[in-house]
Amino acid sequence: MPQLLSSGNTLFVVYLCFACLSVLVLVLVKLASRITRGSTEQPQRAWIVIDLGLLKHNVNIIRSLVDNECKLMPAIKGNAYGLGMVPIAKALWRFGVHDFCVASLSEGIELRKSGIRGNILILGYTNPDNWALLKKYRLTQTLVDYEYGMSLAACSTGLSVHIKVDTGMHRLGECVDQTDRICDLLSCNRFAVKGIFTQLSNSDSNELMGIYQNRNQLARFEEMLSRIQSQGIAIPETHTQNSYGIINYPQKSVALARPGLAIYGVIDQKLCINNQPDLRPIFEVRARVALTKHIATGECVGYGDGYVATEDLTIAVVTIGYADGFPRNLSNGRGGVLVRGGYAPVVGFVCMDQTTVDVSRIPGVVAGDIATIIGNDSDKSITISQIADMSNTISNEIMSRLGERLERRYVEADSQ
Ligand SMILES: *Cc1c(COP(=O)(O)O)cnc(C)c1O
Repeated sequence: MPQLLSSGNTLFVVYLCFACLSVLVLVLVKLASRITRGSTEQPQRAWIVIDLGLLKHNVNIIRSLVDNECKLMPAIKGNAYGLGMVPIAKALWRFGVHDFCVASLSEGIELRKSGIRGNILILGYTNPDNWALLKKYRLTQTLVDYEYGMSLAACSTGLSVHIKVDTGMHRLGECVDQTDRICDLLSCNRFAVKGIFTQLSNSDSNELMGIYQNRNQLARFEEMLSRIQSQGIAIPETHTQNSYGIINYPQKSVALARPGLAIYGVIDQKLCINNQPDLRPIFEVRARVALTKHIATGECVGYGDGYVATEDLTIAVVTIGYADGFPRNLSNGRGGVLVRGGYAPVVGFVCMDQTTVDVSRIPGVVAGDIATIIGNDSDKSITISQIADMSNTISNEIMSRLGERLERRYVEADSQ
């Protein structure tokens, strides 16, 4: 002990305090400058611009498609389909939306931790080990079937739940014909049943069979509700529609609607049966040109000699790859990007972090140019539906796989 008090040690302690303090000040200054610089800084590599003004526009359009009393409960699962769950939820809240659906417990917790109030419905399965967290974060759990509801009732009290009913999709849900079981769930006083819902399996189909199946599902849901009512049991809030359900199967009596794609404006007009709502894509994806180079006839480009030049070319290396969600099966001319108002097809294989494109027919491309992956460049555009079609999948998958590495930039232009 005595040595500690020697003057050398005192000096050392003082020195240590100063060192810590200066590091702290440095960190704070750095943080502050980052905050003040904010989005005026040019994005570096690859990014998404999300226009919250267009989000508001889409919310208003969807409100005009549903009944006055019907509340929107947008699906913001999967990081709001890649667009950033928390910023999207906060913007929706400002636009008067107070109900949200997510897929998982962790998404619900993330929303609560970032200060989102309102009702948050978990559409998917939550493991019994985690049921205590539902209460802690005031989350509403979907009862995925009768057995699930009964085990939840045995373990916990006072939770809010919605009952999922399987009307023909055969994924989650208690079978629509099991009226007694559904009534048991509804009258169970161990939890508060706030809603009952189903999901259409073909809402985005314009074919007769799909249309027939949707009508059949809706009819079975309605019949179940009247059977329940005839037993004197009150019906909680009902919901049946995802985005194409709202557009193609307008419903009078539902309390809630669950639009996902539609709020992000990613709707394929040819799949809209009755009307063509004026929904607009709220985001664009861009990246940089890292460099350009000449390729002589006979030379190869990329991994595995994926491409052999059949003529002299100029290629540009674009700073986005499949780790960012640009699908690898857009390789070798199946996809492309826009740069300086021209279309540049992919040359060779899309790599994890970079993609080579042919700019031979686009004059003046230089390093630092902005390439458009999804969105507009002068009179040309690439839509998410086109990318989905070209890579044999659906827009939802392309969107929700937009990589974490893409910087999300939020703007709010005046729309309408
Ligand atoms: C994801 C999801 C939605 C939203 O679907 P969209 O097709 O994007 O509108 C609605 N309901 C359920 C049950 C979902 O899982």
